[in-house]
Amino acid sequence: MTKKVAILGSTGSIGRNALEVIGALAPAFEVVAMTAHSKVDLFCQQVRAVRPKYAAMTDSVAAQSCRKRLQGTGVEVLSGPNRLVEIASLDEVDIVLCAVVGAAGLPAALAVAKAGKTVAIANKEPLVIAGELLTEAARRSGATILPVDSEHSAVFQAMQAGSAAEVEKVILTASGGPFRKTDTAHMQRATVEQALNHPTWTMGPKITIDSASMMNKALEVIEAVWLFRLSVDQIDVLIHPESVVHSMVEFVDGSVIAQLGTPDMRLPIQYALTYPRRVAGVADRLRLDRLGKLTFEPPDLKKFRALALGFEVARRGGSAPVVFNAANEAAVEAFLAGRIPFGAIVELIEHCLDVHNERTHLSLDDLLAIDDWSRQEVARRLADAPQTVAQK
Ligand code: NAD
Ligand code: MG
Repeated sequence: MTKKVAILGSTGSIGRNALEVIGALAPAFEVVAMTAHSKVDLFCQQVRAVRPKYAAMTDSVAAQSCRKRLQGTGVEVLSGPNRLVEIASLDEVDIVLCAVVGAAGLPAALAVAKAGKTVAIANKEPLVIAGELLTEAARRSGATILPVDSEHSAVFQAMQAGSAAEVEKVILTASGGPFRKTDTAHMQRATVEQALNHPTWTMGPKITIDSASMMNKALEVIEAVWLFRLSVDQIDVLIHPESVVHSMVEFVDGSVIAQLGTPDMRLPIQYALTYPRRVAGVADRLRLDRLGKLTFEPPDLKKFRALALGFEVARRGGSAPVVFNAANEAAVEAFLAGRIPFGAIVELIEHCLDVHNERTHLSLDDLLAIDDWSRQEVARRLADAPQTVAQK
């Protein structure tokens, strides 16, 4: 039977890769719904090619122009952020691929978890800020949350070599990003272009900046805590510049099981869709003989303060990860807009963590309010002391 897929965020890096994977898996898989935020040209092109039953643009101005352009195709274009939740909850959808960027994907991810469907989750920020709500909702409804993030897909695959009780620890690998060999002073003054120049992966702008600061790995530590029910002490990070070993699981007997592949997101996307089966796919093949060697080194937690903070925030739990994530989203936006230097991103995150009053037992509304407070605190800080932030 054909599996019906909804892609939330089809115009993004993950979304585009997913369309390619699903195209190659036809007719076993079919896209019945897709959403995007504001890229009208690309979205219209995708809708014309795929002809989904449902299409939605979260930005209403973009939706209007898309609607005009798609007149006569028979595809109705829905509009507004609430449409993500509606699409995620449709009865006729079997698998929802969450590929939106940032906390904006949270209400939809929660809706899929509540609806008892399969959620293939690339969108890590909702797991970071609402891991407990999401996993608890999935447990109650019987929904399956499958990782798409390459490290978590690797851990998920490696975990199948033993039982959960036999897992000693998880080793998340990280490329080290474009500043692995740059000294701290130069890194803090890096340009947007330098920070966007990732050595191994091609991804959307926000996650690429997060990889340069190693905030991405910090978010992934918290993501792993929730996806695999681990304690923070069970998670290690190892720098692996070749990005071939996507992560590892160490079992109690000392065996370390790793998953390897080229740095190609089409593989973890496909595995989340076809799980528990494996089928031939479009991902590039690994040629270890051409690579020659694989290298590993410990991360520099003094230089990459975001990673050190990530471990701390993961231990604190409650509202700390919400503040941590939202401050980063706002700071990365300011960096990409040329308003602050690279080094100010982590300064702003630290500032928000310092001034916020920690809370626990949070509802979705609490989480969203804390997320909003953190973004506003970044804006206030930038308005009050722009020169202080700019010099750092
Ligand atoms: P991207 O910026 O390339 O694409 C983001 C998508 O989300 C687009 O389709 C956009 O239209 C949509 N979107 C943006 N803002 C939105 C909003 N406010 N409401 C609804 N939709 C919105 O991002 P990406 O690189 O594809 O990453 C998507 C998610 O997957 C992120 O959470 C990222 O951390 C995670 N991820 C990405 C990769 C990768 O290789 N790109 C790897 C692992 C995990
Ligand atoms: Mg990753």
